[in-house]
Amino acid sequence: MELTTSRLYQKDVYLRAAEAVITATEKREDGYWFAADRTPFFPEGGGQSSDIGTVTGKNEKAAGATHRIDLVLEEGDAVWHRLAASGEEETAPDAHPFKTGETVTLAIDWAHRFENMQRHAGEHILSGRIWALYGGTNRGFHMGEDYMTIDIRFEDADGNAVLGKTLTLDMAMAAEHAANEVIWEDLPIHVDYFETNEEASAMPTRKPVAFDEDISIVTVGDREEPADCCACCGTHPSTAGQVGLVKVYRVEKNKDMTRVYFDAGRKAMAHIDAHMAILTDLANANSTSPEELPARLHAEEERHAKMREELTAFRKAAADAHLAEILTALEQKASSEQAAEEAGAAGSAPLVFTFTDIASGDFSKAGKKLQKKIRGSVLAAFPDESVLLLYADKSADSLDCGAVVKEQAAAFGGRGGGNKESARAMFPDQESMKRFLETL
Ligand SMILES: [Zn+2]
Repeated sequence: MELTTSRLYQKDVYLRAAEAVITATEKREDGYWFAADRTPFFPEGGGQSSDIGTVTGKNEKAAGATHRIDLVLEEGDAVWHRLAASGEEETAPDAHPFKTGETVTLAIDWAHRFENMQRHAGEHILSGRIWALYGGTNRGFHMGEDYMTIDIRFEDADGNAVLGKTLTLDMAMAAEHAANEVIWEDLPIHVDYFETNEEASAMPTRKPVAFDEDISIVTVGDREEPADCCACCGTHPSTAGQVGLVKVYRVEKNKDMTRVYFDAGRKAMAHIDAHMAILTDLANANSTSPEELPARLHAEEERHAKMREELTAFRKAAADAHLAEILTALEQKASSEQAAEEAGAAGSAPLVFTFTDIASGDFSKAGKKLQKKIRGSVLAAFPDESVLLLYADKSADSLDCGAVVKEQAAAFGGRGGGNKESARAMFPDQESMKRFLETL
């Protein structure tokens, strides 16, 4: 015999719990399932996630008598409920806890359901306003955890996309305002059930009814002149006011459609609260109010630009001063070497400089000037970055900078390269750079 479940949410969407008789049980790969003769649980469908909740056996006081239901699906005329594998309060049952014929109490998670009702009705109302104001057709709907989306397409009489026509953010915001006016008018929301497409098509729906039988038509406002009317099997509150609000977040192009990101009811409120908290934190961090924040950030940006300019000039001056230092030292070394040579001594170690007030990148222009005047070799160390710059003159008996980096720096974790006259080596830390310098 075909299993049939009476869907109690269709008669009373506010029913939170009901007694039911289990008509079938099954063990499937993803857990234990049961069907019942009646249920207040909405099964997944029409873009709406299924209800969640609990099932409690007759022996309510016994341990493990209550199980969580985490998924509800429609199969033919029956509604099947899955027992949650494990949760905070219970462990996974090791055998099916229910038997066919057993009477149980099915209770839905009302907060979860009411959010879904708010969101579904909010989507209808916003889509209805976009249709009424601009003639944009809702061609796709997604209800996610953090937002909902609808895909709006502008179509000609043949149903082809009107090229280049999109829903701008301004248009979406105007539709949002119009949707909220509908909500605040607190219009009634009716759900009418029809056996056939012909009967349902007599309703003033915004889109042709695409189903053949067992059709529910949701109407916001008067049935003769509705604020919105469309076919939908989801759950909706009895009045528009219960939606509370609709909030558009953003729009983006999606193929030949415009995707509108938005939410409704408690979820929209939570989103606004979260953004308010971010804005308040940002304003506090900048010692100002949210209203003054844009001007403050703009002024700050101008101040930063000026500081960057000053810093660039300062670093250039510092690099030039260091270049002068190096050139003076080179001259002193040259004259003392000449004296040593005359005295018969030999050897020419590179001159080592350590700079902590500029970055290695700031020294690149000064480095080019140094290359023109250098005699012997110079090593410029930047310990904050663990970077070493090497410079040498062209003579054959002076340091080959590139070769030294390539052949000797690797042993100290150094990477980099260059040519005979200049090279750059980067070390994993200061200590490695120091040890490399000692070997030279
Ligand atoms: Zn709906």
